[in-house]
Amino acid sequence: MDINRFKKRGYVKRPTYIEPLNNLTKLMNKNINLYVKRDDLLESGGNKTRKLDYLIADAIEKGCDTIITCGAVQSNHCRITLSWANLEKMDCHLIIEERVKGSYKEDANGNNFLFHLMGAKSIKMVAGKSDMMAEMEKKAEELRKEGKKPYIVPGGGSNGIGALGYSSCALELMEQLAKESLDIDTIVVPSGSSGTHAGMAVALKALNSKINLVGINVSRTTEEQKDTVFKVAQEHIEVLGLDKNILRRDDLICIEDYVGEGYSLKTEGMKNAVEVFAREESILLDPVYTGKVADGFLDLIKKDYFKEGSNVLFLHTGGSIALYAYQNYFKD
Ligand SMILES: *Cc1c(COP(=O)(O)O)cnc(C)c1O
Repeated sequence: MDINRFKKRGYVKRPTYIEPLNNLTKLMNKNINLYVKRDDLLESGGNKTRKLDYLIADAIEKGCDTIITCGAVQSNHCRITLSWANLEKMDCHLIIEERVKGSYKEDANGNNFLFHLMGAKSIKMVAGKSDMMAEMEKKAEELRKEGKKPYIVPGGGSNGIGALGYSSCALELMEQLAKESLDIDTIVVPSGSSGTHAGMAVALKALNSKINLVGINVSRTTEEQKDTVFKVAQEHIEVLGLDKNILRRDDLICIEDYVGEGYSLKTEGMKNAVEVFAREESILLDPVYTGKVADGFLDLIKKDYFKEGSNVLFLHTGGSIALYAYQNYFKD
């Protein structure tokens, strides 16, 4: 798998740490060793930085001067895209989807506050289930008339190019494991817009790795999520020029049990997982993604889903800034 031929901006300056979760390992008391990879500590704070490293390089290569992207009301992706656009001196326009009716508040804290503080050129709110690509195209057309050269970054930065961020993360990880003589059996990842899951899945196959990759859904059912991941994976395989049959849809694991009533909606398991990580490991998660993934991670350990004596790694993808918009989720 030759990834070095793809242009990137160099946002990922060093491998993110892999740390043992010693206190949690003891607390779970299961003869399973727990580890975390700290992608939450990437510059600008989260997994979108890896995807944008390649996407913004593509935008610049195409001569664009303006970025348009979309996300939910507390989108980490929008905030991180805005921060890299600022550093590149590019304008950034956001289309915000109100997935939960009544959830958009112009003066909300967390990521929303930062959209304003960091100077998004425009913020447009649209109703849940809107055609976000069409909304972004409309904005692009407007900007073209003003003489701008807009580049559309899809939701979550998840397409065949954005997924390069996570196939390269898998390469980084394999190198770290070799260096540290660490034999990881399973990696637990979030499965949302799925550039993360798809990029890792394709790379682990291309590397012929035996590591088991478990995706925890944050919004969709298992079948819907498998479709989502598989579609991005196929686009990614095409970008890489790999054999189409390297990954089958049935190779994907997507677990729907920790979504609760829907995207960004509170679950007791999420609340508990966020508290446990904060108190045992001093690691801040978020209510929308990593809190639900950590709920799955801990629950699967309790249910003996992982084999006895195995080493399990949790990929921490960031998002803790959203905590400040969901304080009410943590009050009893
Ligand atoms: C976007 C996001 C995810 C989901 O990653 P995808 O590649 O969209 O599946 C997970 N965690 C956090 C904190 C995110 O912001």
